[in-house]
Amino acid sequence: MISEVRESKQKEIQILLKQLDGLVQIKGLPIFPEPKTGNPLWADVRELDLRYQIPVKKVTRFFDELGKGKIMATKCVKCNTIYFPPQDDCPKCRVSGLEWVELPVEGELITYTIISVKPPSFSHYPDYVVGIADLGEVNVTAWVQGPKEKLKVGAKVRLEVVKREPEGYLTYSLRLL
Ligand SMILES: [Zn+2]
Repeated sequence: MISEVRESKQKEIQILLKQLDGLVQIKGLPIFPEPKTGNPLWADVRELDLRYQIPVKKVTRFFDELGKGKIMATKCVKCNTIYFPPQDDCPKCRVSGLEWVELPVEGELITYTIISVKPPSFSHYPDYVVGIADLGEVNVTAWVQGPKEKLKVGAKVRLEVVKREPEGYLTYSLRLL
């Protein structure tokens, strides 16, 4: 399933790149207008297949706990700031080795937006909702799931571990209660 998604994505990208190459040939410059604003964009004529690999050694506990259904954050013992997604350093106090804390899971939706125009790497998903929830000690940004009629500012939500399909990896999202 995921390889089919990837293949169809690659095809779309190939078509876009061909159009771009055509534009470059016509204009003699790798400059084209951004579709929404018309502002000029410079496009690299070389392709780069980019798949991020981010070092997570200092926050591997987050992934271990996610596998057990727990959502962890880190907390600076000096200034009490909670970091989510977790990070090992507090830039305010310039200290490392922050403490692990379990996030409170229930809160209120502060704001949300329905994503219908998706970035290319998210275009295989149906329209989705991204929201920010106030969980008391910290605000969390995540996808919001649940019946549309419950979707409103102030709605009660619960942060939970979910499996993102079709990729099949564990992540977290806010469920409307
Ligand atoms: Zn701090």
